[in-house]
Amino acid sequence: MPNWISRMGQAIKHFWPFITKFGAPRTANLREKFWERYSLNELNEAEWEALCDGCGRCCLLKFEETEGSPVTFTNVCCKLLDRSTSRCQHYECRSQIVPDCINLQPKTMPDMIDWLPRSCAYRLVHEGRPLYEWHHLKSGSRDTVHQAGFSVSHRCIPEYEIDPDELESYSVDWANQ
Ligand code: SF4
Repeated sequence: MPNWISRMGQAIKHFWPFITKFGAPRTANLREKFWERYSLNELNEAEWEALCDGCGRCCLLKFEETEGSPVTFTNVCCKLLDRSTSRCQHYECRSQIVPDCINLQPKTMPDMIDWLPRSCAYRLVHEGRPLYEWHHLKSGSRDTVHQAGFSVSHRCIPEYEIDPDELESYSVDWANQ
């Protein structure tokens, strides 16, 4: 099952998690500390969905100067992102609204990893690193990603408000720390 969506266009990609988009995790199918005990491709659907921290950083536009050069994050977000909650506003029909979204699956992680923020839970598990203490699977609250300052809430500009040719001027460091 595809698990993530990303949108790609001329050295710009942006990701949308294919999940209940930061909703409450379905605990029934979550194995104990699954994020420490299993690789991404061993997770069941509920675990995959629950792994998302809800930061919204994957919904920021990114670019690389030339193919293969370091990916730069901007504070420009997808037009569908709710900039208060860091959630997709039209999750169910997002691919119809933004048809150039692409799915990201466990098998495509190696190709996509540089386009994900270093704090992304999928990237952490893929790299064998622990989740942050603010991750809701550890803290027990979906609010802690915001309280810890890791979400994009109130920190980004929608893509329709900028000139695409000026994207580079919106580069930020905080989104990939
Ligand atoms: S953990 Fe953050 S960056 Fe990773 S998919 Fe979820 S919202 Fe996106």
